[in-house]
Amino acid sequence: MNSILFAKILIDWWHKNKRDLPWKHTKDPYKIWVSEIILQQTRVDQGTPYYHRFIKRFPDVFVLAKASEDDVLKVWEGLGYYTRARNLHSTAKQIVKDNDGLFPENYEDIIKLKGIGPYSAAAISSFAFEGSHAVVDGNVTRMVTRILGIYDAVELPETKKSIQSYVSSAIQTVRPSSFNQALLDFGSQTCTPKDPGCAYCPFNLYCKAYHQNVVKILPIKRKKQPRKIRYFHYLDLSSVNQIILHQRSKNDIWKNLFELPMIETDSPTIENPESLLKHIDIILNDNNTTLVSCHKIYESTQLLTHQKINGYFYSISIAKISKKINPSHYLVERKKVSNFAFPKIITEYFRHLKKTDELLF
Ligand code: SF4
Repeated sequence: MNSILFAKILIDWWHKNKRDLPWKHTKDPYKIWVSEIILQQTRVDQGTPYYHRFIKRFPDVFVLAKASEDDVLKVWEGLGYYTRARNLHSTAKQIVKDNDGLFPENYEDIIKLKGIGPYSAAAISSFAFEGSHAVVDGNVTRMVTRILGIYDAVELPETKKSIQSYVSSAIQTVRPSSFNQALLDFGSQTCTPKDPGCAYCPFNLYCKAYHQNVVKILPIKRKKQPRKIRYFHYLDLSSVNQIILHQRSKNDIWKNLFELPMIETDSPTIENPESLLKHIDIILNDNNTTLVSCHKIYESTQLLTHQKINGYFYSISIAKISKKINPSHYLVERKKVSNFAFPKIITEYFRHLKKTDELLF
């Protein structure tokens, strides 16, 4: 099927089936940029409330640039992939500093910004400025491999190149913003992974996968690497009104988010209780900690793209809390924990405590 016919059929379909999403009513590159970053690795229904909250709190690039990173992470809390929020924030500062707050207009300049890859650059440049770079994501890859009958693994550079080249020539023949939106809408509404609507699809006369009865087989993907499994032991150092928090700083997941003091081990149990006591000593800046009690009160898991986090939560009662805790930790009033941004596994722990009335808010 030639790319001109592909574009024509797609646009005709889109005029009858387009999705009405909040960021589709604007040409403001800031709002389009925010929506695109939120939608990386996030479903539309999950991302939409975050988009509204983010734009309400940071209505333009100047407000975002002035905000603290903790404020930005707090608005992002629960959405995951926090690097996206940090990149949005640092790019906003860069745009204000180097470009008087003006968003770059062409693909080549947009793609140079931190956190923006070929997909987001194509989306922003077309939706805001009618730039003619076609978007290629998992949805687009799926529909093109099916329509053209591509049996090579989609991760291969040659496969990516041929999909990109096909949609790149198609976009030249129509309005770029409509074409890109149509691609995304069609891939997510009709040519879906599990149950595509082939019977009423406007491409079914031409679609090779449909005619060769391989719709369920395409696209071909290489086997995924198994997730790395990690064991985090969180210490809830108890006091009636206060709790000790720690801000993650290493180059690891959840950078700059807050958590309870934590020990990571290679197994679900802490083999050596001495190490636990030693860690508590370090947190409390005290060489003589007397552990009164230590109970595991909750456990949970959180799945990330390449990791599975197993979290174990211990309620720890100690004889006395030193006032001079380790400087990398914070002694916080329990009723103020909601001011901090946490990974989902920690938020769920607090929710669990609230339900069981163990957290005194
Ligand atoms: S016929 Fe089916 S597999 Fe082919 S493009 Fe349409 S929905 Fe996708």
